[in-house]
Amino acid sequence: MCHEPCATGHAPRAYNSIVHHTVSLIPGDGIGPEVADATVRAVEATGIPVRWERVELTREVIEQSGESLPEGVVESLQRTRVGLKGPVTTPIAGGFQSVNVALRKRLDLFANVRPVRNLPGLKTRYQDAKIDMIIFRENTEDLYAGLEHEVVTDVVTSLKVITRRASERIARYTFEFAKRTGRQQITAVHKANIMKLGDGLFLRCCREVAREYPDIGYKELIVDNAAMQLVMRPETFDLLLMPNLYGDIVSDLAAGLVGGLGIVPGSNMGERCAVFEAVHGSAPDIAGKGIANPTALMQSAVLMLAHLGEQAASARLQTAIERVYAGAKHLTPDVGGSAGTTEFTDAVIAAME
Ligand code: ATP
Repeated sequence: MCHEPCATGHAPRAYNSIVHHTVSLIPGDGIGPEVADATVRAVEATGIPVRWERVELTREVIEQSGESLPEGVVESLQRTRVGLKGPVTTPIAGGFQSVNVALRKRLDLFANVRPVRNLPGLKTRYQDAKIDMIIFRENTEDLYAGLEHEVVTDVVTSLKVITRRASERIARYTFEFAKRTGRQQITAVHKANIMKLGDGLFLRCCREVAREYPDIGYKELIVDNAAMQLVMRPETFDLLLMPNLYGDIVSDLAAGLVGGLGIVPGSNMGERCAVFEAVHGSAPDIAGKGIANPTALMQSAVLMLAHLGEQAASARLQTAIERVYAGAKHLTPDVGGSAGTTEFTDAVIAAME
């Protein structure tokens, strides 16, 4: 782990003024370092003094250290209590446990919150629909418990863990969010017709919590129907509340509605710590090519600045991103443009007032 005043190697704009915020910066691997550097530049351009505590967390670091979650990462986040994180590659069908999952469990980051919105001017199949939904995904259990067992050769069981504690907690977090922000409608997503006990418990907890908030609309959708409704009528969704695995799948579906994984930001919220990260993974197919879209991590930084109480800087960055999309001249290839990561980032910084 190294400690640097600034992830880009340049002194931040407000270097000589009082440093107000310390943030653990975990660039990750794949396209992570590219989008993280871009995001650091954009945050610094808002004028908010941030001391970045850079923590290396990559597939190689994990494999060399032999720990799925190196202690330095946890230690930094426990101290700063705020992280900005790029993706870290998870090996498929074998290898070490997902570091993202390990981190969420270890720091008890129980709520994964992902706002999904159209960006102005961005051409998508749904550009005329007003999409503005937020996904609340339980972040610590379900099939992500990682409890798998080969009973006999070629017969495997994977345990889906659902508890009252975690289900109530994510439900209450969602209803409290709605109350605080004036959002109107919460849709709980489940498959309790098949998993009557597990998803049944999740649903029961949602219903019990919903009764305490009579002013907020509450309805339920079975996950397969929810998938269809999301594609046919995305503008009708407000807040979506769901267990871990459905949250993962629905997040990518929802990202597809507004322009893809390059767009959608996220936050992992706990009682003591918050880690802001994009929905996308490490995108090895485009890593190192200079064409990754940093919008998702930049919009995660918008959420982070608001969390830090820097509402004006948060709005400045969001407005600048939206101006660049509205102008449509400096967009990356995943959203139909031909600009690289740096050109897009320069345009966001130039668009900042
Ligand atoms: P994980 O399972 O680790 O979440 P994933 O399977 O969802 O990863 P990603 O790594 O997110 O996969 O990539 C999926 C596709 O989306 C790839 O083709 C990738 O290039 C593209 N993609 C993801 N993020 C971005 C981005 N920021 N900019 C451009 N393209 C992206």
